[in-house]
Amino acid sequence: MKNSGNSRSDAPQIITRADHNVSRNEISKSALKVLYRLNKAGYQAFLVGGCVRDAMLNLHPKDFDVATNATPEEVRALFGNCRLIGRRFRLAHVRFGREIIEVATFRAAAIHVDDDSEHDHEGRILRDNVYGTIDEDVWRRDFTCNALYYTTTDFSIWDFVGGVADVERKQLVLIGDPEVRLREDPVRMLRAIRFAAKLDFTIDPPVVEAIHHHAPLLANVPPARLFDEFLKLFQTGHAESTFILLWQHGLFQEMFPATTEELENDEIFAGFVRAALQNTDRRVAADKSVTPMFLLGVFFWAPVKKLAAIRRSEEKMTEAQSLSLASYDIVAAQQRRLSIPRRFTVPMREMLALQPRFLQMRGKRAMKLLEHRRFRAAYDFMILLADVGQVDSEIAQFWTDVQTQSATERAASFQMDSPSKKKRRPRSRRRRRKPQAS
Ligand code: ATP
Ligand code: MG
Repeated sequence: MKNSGNSRSDAPQIITRADHNVSRNEISKSALKVLYRLNKAGYQAFLVGGCVRDAMLNLHPKDFDVATNATPEEVRALFGNCRLIGRRFRLAHVRFGREIIEVATFRAAAIHVDDDSEHDHEGRILRDNVYGTIDEDVWRRDFTCNALYYTTTDFSIWDFVGGVADVERKQLVLIGDPEVRLREDPVRMLRAIRFAAKLDFTIDPPVVEAIHHHAPLLANVPPARLFDEFLKLFQTGHAESTFILLWQHGLFQEMFPATTEELENDEIFAGFVRAALQNTDRRVAADKSVTPMFLLGVFFWAPVKKLAAIRRSEEKMTEAQSLSLASYDIVAAQQRRLSIPRRFTVPMREMLALQPRFLQMRGKRAMKLLEHRRFRAAYDFMILLADVGQVDSEIAQFWTDVQTQSATERAASFQMDSPSKKKRRPRSRRRRRKPQAS
């Protein structure tokens, strides 16, 4: 029998080891140690959240979260390798080499704390730091598939909300009333999209409807939290499908207004963004590094170029200067939604401002571009522009070729004059290319 996520049942449905496919081999040894030791000391302890869900779906979970009735201090007393973190709500981090197992004490759901002072005027939860029992802890979780508890006492799964059935039918169902749960924490809208893209789940229609009402509430989410969520949305291997879903549900528009305006009017830019998202997913699949500054640079490219052109029409400056200034302004406006750390915005500006330099392929200054610390990112960016026809393919080929050439070949490619020749040939006769906007 399926419990609907919207109806409360106090007793869990217990799915025994014979009736589910979560194998112990899918669970990290460290997580198992934590569970065993807590149990041995007389506490309840469960794996919960994404790891149980992913194990059920044979997705090889990497992060393991433990929920227990031991308080953080009691957890710390059991493990030497343990640190307590978090001010608002204390969590224990138990470390095994590089692996960290997060151990959280059961918490009561916000709905149990029926005090208006706990919510802001739009219903967002401001405080939910009350310890509880497992049958309270379950109700504060977001989706039914994220609220499954796995115990090593008999390897069963405890399901209070019909999560097992929802995993089987690949349905993303919010626990409780979607309108209320999304108002409490608007980031859940982004989590819905992220899980739908990652797990290939369908979002429950009432949740879709609630997202359509509440998308503008993303504006109330602290920008730093939105940036963290941005990383999970776009750097975990499903950037393209995530983007499509975010757009369909009107959420991308809330996160990136300037990008949205250009995407709506510029098909070539839309193709460029799509190509960059696919490229990011390919890199993640190949275990290559990805940096958020690259994708952010892509998102901001059209707005930055547009603003840079305005700047140049108002004041005399080089294209590189105008691009750098414009990225500064576009980023500043964006920070109100998503706070992007300086360690990403600074290289991003450099990457964008370098783009006109790819059009100069003669002489020492042109060759020096190869040594620029942002060359690699700027080159990848330019190649992507070439892929969508925004940079001449011969230019792209030139910069690809010169990277593997010997010093002599390279000097020839950049038509570097030898010192003796240089004296003979008057400077004025050297052909100069005017940089152009790509
Ligand atoms: P993944 O690790 O793949 O991102 P996850 O489900 O483990 O997915 P986490 O962000 O690690 O996601 O959170 C762990 C668990 O905490 C979730 O499964 C969910 O039960 C609960 N949780 C996290 N964020 C929220 C939220 N905003 N609202 C309600 N519950 C949440
Ligand atoms: Mg997790």
